[in-house]
Amino acid sequence: MMSAESSVAKRLEGKVALITGGASGIGESTTRVFVKHGAKVLIADIQDELGHSLCKELGSWETISYIHCDVTRESDVQNAVDLAVSKYGKLDIMFNNAGILGEPELRAIASNIEDFKRVYDVNVFGAFLGAKHASRVMIPAKKGCILFTASMLSMICTGLPHAYTTSKHAVVGLTKSLAVELGEYGIRVNCISPYAIVTPLFQGASGILDMQNGEEKISAAAVLKGAILETNDVAHAALFLASDEAKYLNGVNLPVDGGYSLYKPTWK
Ligand code: NAD
Repeated sequence: MMSAESSVAKRLEGKVALITGGASGIGESTTRVFVKHGAKVLIADIQDELGHSLCKELGSWETISYIHCDVTRESDVQNAVDLAVSKYGKLDIMFNNAGILGEPELRAIASNIEDFKRVYDVNVFGAFLGAKHASRVMIPAKKGCILFTASMLSMICTGLPHAYTTSKHAVVGLTKSLAVELGEYGIRVNCISPYAIVTPLFQGASGILDMQNGEEKISAAAVLKGAILETNDVAHAALFLASDEAKYLNGVNLPVDGGYSLYKPTWK
């Protein structure tokens, strides 16, 4: 008899995915969901122990593997893409998900350019390098899907943090610009903009959201009540965008924010 798990239609059967930041948080959940849906996955991260143990848990080297890849180093990104192709024969999905928050509370007057550079190195230039090297192998194949994780802060501003917020606006710019260029080759480029989730990334935001009460504060500020956003919800948005069901979606910034980016405080 078929188990409930095995009867789930595999929406990424035969596809090969590379997920940056795939060892933790949203990336980890996406790795789990993609593997469950039949994809072969290469996790690219800087947290080697987490990456290796996730691979061990989820399958064999034939279906899932890990490579140390600092997305700020072009040679690392190039090696990761080349490994996906040499190991699994092709690259269908490049999920540029790795990201950092930077200094969460620096007001403009106290900001320093080093913080901006550090955040941009990972969130913007690292994401761009992923797209660059993925397109190197996707263009000859005349197909592919490039995804980014932006943020609700790609659409709205809460005032702080400036480096993170502007970096995520840039990710949307990259999505649109690349979607127009690469559409010619059948490559779709989209991004996802989640609301807040308590992941290790948020540990750096302890002044804004202390981890103990993080979930409570996130829920209290949410527009959509009765549900809490989980990394798995973002992973399923990635699954949809990566699947053939989204074959005509290109240049889209998909909010997974329960309507938060529509919200405008009212005068009371
Ligand atoms: P996380 O800290 O759990 O995961 C981030 C991953 O990126 C980690 O595994 C980390 O090792 C990896 N990483 C960091 N720098 C890297 C580098 N230089 N090279 C390779 N990997 C690197 O946090 P998360 O919340 O899952 O974040 C994933 C993405 O989601 C980020 O782009 C983040 O900006 C975005 N995001 C998160 C939230 C949230 O509330 N957690 C909301 C919106 C968007």
